[in-house]
Amino acid sequence: MTHAPNTYRGRFAPSPTGSLHLGSLYTALASFLEARSQGGLWFVRIDDIDTPRCLPGADTRILKTLERFGLCWDGTVDYQSDNLERYRAALDKLEENGRLYPCTCSRKKLEGTGSAYPGWCRGRPRDRLQPHALRVRVDPGTIVFEDRLQGRFSQNLADTSGDFIVYRRDKIYAYQLAVVADDHAAGITEILRGCDLLDNTPRQIHLQRLLQLPPPAYCHIPVLVNPEGQKLSKQTGAPAVDDCKPGPGPLLHALLRLLGQNPPGELLNAPPKEILSWAIAHWRIEGIPKCRRIAIMPSSIPDIRVISA
Ligand code: GLU
Ligand code: ZN
Repeated sequence: MTHAPNTYRGRFAPSPTGSLHLGSLYTALASFLEARSQGGLWFVRIDDIDTPRCLPGADTRILKTLERFGLCWDGTVDYQSDNLERYRAALDKLEENGRLYPCTCSRKKLEGTGSAYPGWCRGRPRDRLQPHALRVRVDPGTIVFEDRLQGRFSQNLADTSGDFIVYRRDKIYAYQLAVVADDHAAGITEILRGCDLLDNTPRQIHLQRLLQLPPPAYCHIPVLVNPEGQKLSKQTGAPAVDDCKPGPGPLLHALLRLLGQNPPGELLNAPPKEILSWAIAHWRIEGIPKCRRIAIMPSSIPDIRVISA
């Protein structure tokens, strides 16, 4: 697929596993501003292939919340569940290149082996009858990339993940494979997302190389954590933003306190649209703190409903 050259193409890719919480609004806002400030395009993709984790109706709620905050996307929303053929084609290509092998190891068997798969099923005769996952072989050596915010990041996949799963035993395509295939198909030029995915990036770059896809740029912004250091999520009692007033509270809070921008006081009672036009015109990505996590007290954010876990 070819896309207009030189146009910035960004995206926000929530998983529909619950309501949009402040941590996701913050990431959506940063990627939206980065795209719009460059006159670029901004897409939304719903990462719904991990069906056991998806919550019916969560996609609609997330999209509605984005709209209420004025975060309007280009084109139609891409659903991963519509892209299974794309993932199959990517898997076939890896298979043709002799990169895949079935793994029958159970979670129990792997217990205590650490984060890197020890490669037990590498080179074993194929027994297609047993339930198995498909793993992709990694190469020795380090994968290095320059993150726009976090700087140089390197990882030796053999030590950190080992050969990793691209197709799960429950017949679900793995996130690593899907994200690489989709971002390429959408012509995404820069992936701006939370630092919780920073250490997934080398696996994604490994897949891009095997599939001969050009790498996008990366920018990982800090993840919001609660005072106990847990990533904000529904499970950790994070504030949901879907039912709160779509007023200036969360947007201004995110701009001022989390993204290091300097919105003027006049915006205090402005509608989201006005706040966003100011933010697009004055966006400075350098304002974002160069750290991996920011601890916040959910109760300190105005107009946010705190949902209990
Ligand atoms: N769907 C993923 C998540 O919600 C994000 C995917 C990505 O940005 O690469 O954690
Ligand atoms: Zn195995």
